[in-house]
Amino acid sequence: MKELIREEVRGMKRYVAGKPVSEVKRELGLTQVVKMASNENPWGASPRVKEAVVRTLSDISRYPDSGSFGLRAALMAKTGVPMEKIFAGCGSDSLIKVISATFLRPGEEILMGEHSFSRYEDNALLMGARVVKSPMPQGFLDLPDMLTRITDKTRIIYLCCPNNPTGSAFGKAQFEAFLLHVPERVVLVLDEAYREYVTREDYFEALDYLPDHPRLIVLRTFSKAYGMASLRVGYGFAQEELVEAFQKVMDPFLVNLFAQEAAVAALEDEDFLRHVQEENRKGKAYFYEELQALNLPYVPSEANFVLFDTGRDDLEVFQALLRKGYIVRPGSYLGLPGFLRVTISTMEDNRGFFEALRQVLEGVVSKNTQTRR
Ligand SMILES: *Cc1c(COP(=O)(O)O)cnc(C)c1O
Repeated sequence: MKELIREEVRGMKRYVAGKPVSEVKRELGLTQVVKMASNENPWGASPRVKEAVVRTLSDISRYPDSGSFGLRAALMAKTGVPMEKIFAGCGSDSLIKVISATFLRPGEEILMGEHSFSRYEDNALLMGARVVKSPMPQGFLDLPDMLTRITDKTRIIYLCCPNNPTGSAFGKAQFEAFLLHVPERVVLVLDEAYREYVTREDYFEALDYLPDHPRLIVLRTFSKAYGMASLRVGYGFAQEELVEAFQKVMDPFLVNLFAQEAAVAALEDEDFLRHVQEENRKGKAYFYEELQALNLPYVPSEANFVLFDTGRDDLEVFQALLRKGYIVRPGSYLGLPGFLRVTISTMEDNRGFFEALRQVLEGVVSKNTQTRR
């Protein structure tokens, strides 16, 4: 049987998603479980999104508009980017696949950060491409280092900003310096899945660079700040010629009707987005306070999650937290042993989490004390 499967597929790893609440409840016999593992929005989605979904039920038997016209028009109205340069897919996950299939020939290379979004790698491997990784000291993409790793084979560079799983982001000056040195034959994908959460003042508007950088592709999503992860809708901006190519590669009805209608409704509710941003900001400040009090080093975050070093076996801490009803993301699954990535949640859940973490840390031996013995 194995020979039937393409070598490229055999070389891929399966994506390990955050544990679902229902599974943890069932397995551990818990009634109260809080998921802070998948960077989902703890404030849900806008009431307008829910109304749109209900309203659309009457058309459940219809195919969706394959061109996502209404959604792209709404995105044009919001951003000023012409519709011909906008594309949408079934989550930005699906768009990463479309981009990989459009550009990557076997033996070519993608370039990405060492601790960045794993889907770039998996989709590159699927196309028979090689993956080149740049080290990320302190959890930050090292843009000058990335430039030194560009070869004749480099086809796509992925910049995840803010970066998942570290939460770090670079600013305008760094981005501009990088853009200046990316060769014409390389596609630059800027994945801004967490853009709405950025608080650093020197952040940039990526769309401003589209006219002068024809190989720049910007990806965004409704899954995080808009709270629509279940509906699966992501979108992007690129030159018309590239968008036309993507449209050929995409499955024709990639964005379902509910997702299209809901996304348009989400864009109309700016108050909801502001509320989410404000609450996330407060939660992040609280995370920093608690982590400092616990003496646990963390990566400053521009997203809705914080990556920190437990100084212990993260899988042990993860399991102990699970037993207390808190699902988080262990660093070992992300190539960052010792670390945990935790989604910023409501203040009630944040407080509960840190209470549980304090208790857990007392029980799990620190790596430092172990080595000293
Ligand atoms: C969550 C995430 C995505 C994908 O989100 P979709 O739900 O597929 O739109 C893309 N990139 C990064 C870095 C993410 O964290």
